[in-house]
Amino acid sequence: MSNPPVENVVIIGTGCAGLTAAIYTGRANLNPLVLEGPLPGGQLTTTSEVENFPGFEHGVDGFQLTQNMRAQATRFGTRFEQAMVTAVDFTSTPRKLICGDRVILAKSVIIATGASPRLTGIPGEKELYGGKGVTTCATCDGAFYRKMEVAVLGGGDSAAEEALFLTRFASKVYLVHRRDTLRASKIMADRATSHEKIQMVWDSVPVEVLGVKEGAVNGLKVKNVKTGAESVLPVKGIFVAIGHIPNTGPFAPPLDVDEGGYFKPQAGSQVQTNVPGVYVAGDCSDHTYRQAITAAGMGCQAAIDAERWLAEHGG
Ligand code: NAP
Repeated sequence: MSNPPVENVVIIGTGCAGLTAAIYTGRANLNPLVLEGPLPGGQLTTTSEVENFPGFEHGVDGFQLTQNMRAQATRFGTRFEQAMVTAVDFTSTPRKLICGDRVILAKSVIIATGASPRLTGIPGEKELYGGKGVTTCATCDGAFYRKMEVAVLGGGDSAAEEALFLTRFASKVYLVHRRDTLRASKIMADRATSHEKIQMVWDSVPVEVLGVKEGAVNGLKVKNVKTGAESVLPVKGIFVAIGHIPNTGPFAPPLDVDEGGYFKPQAGSQVQTNVPGVYVAGDCSDHTYRQAITAAGMGCQAAIDAERWLAEHGG
């Protein structure tokens, strides 16, 4: 069996970070190969309007933004293939990316695998996840809850954004947060707390998703952490928005990660890992900013560093 070709640069992930890295490495004539996972376009495709990406005065649809980036990357010679990296071997060069039965060889690698939604782990959540009433994506599933009551869990920008989006369909949106102030930015928090369809459920944690026997969500049991009182919200849909878990599993080890599982770049760099020629970008290594624009910036940095590394090491 013949050996697979050795790629100049393989980019793993098609969110803002990966696509920006593809635009830059493509434009540098490196003929990048991008590996697409289960959510092409990344988290932006599950958001509605992006209001803070510079250059779009009136906002831009998240899905459209990634489509534009993809078309731009393709224009500069980027190739896209569907493949899930399950393990890596970075002990020798070229680097080996193992995707099930297939091995991809690469002189340099940019990992931009993003982060996946965190779930609460309460009883009933797993059983009723996806199509049965528990979801992590209002943009995807909100329209199923027309004229129904729904709950959003969390207190960050995502929770506020999901709650606001859901007011287009739902008759009432309970925003369940474990404290009495939102973590969300002031503008989003003000919009959510002042919306007539949104009812804040402060100081409360979800305890159980009801409806497992019926096969569909039929209420959410919540507990007030200050009084200990439990109550049931009469909801048919539950939107979990309590943060994310970085998708770093197949790469760590050998790559260094911090206590939260995020990639830990070398001191003095935002994108250089502990393996030469291997870079990280976007939400898989950023637990501070986690914005589309910062992910794009990191993708750009990783691409420029990879390009320089290849120039110095016979790319
Ligand atoms: P986040 O800021 O980490 O917020 C997570 C929220 O979930 C927090 O309010 C947290 O409560 C709560 N939480 C965490 N674990 C929980 C648990 N087990 N049970 C109950 N509640 C729990 O995450 P995010 O909202 O997904 O935002 C991530 C990043 O993306 C942020 O930087 C945000 O600014 C950004 N973002 C921006 C926009 C925008 O600009 N339009 C939209 C979406 C996201 P505590 O507050 O008590 O910790």
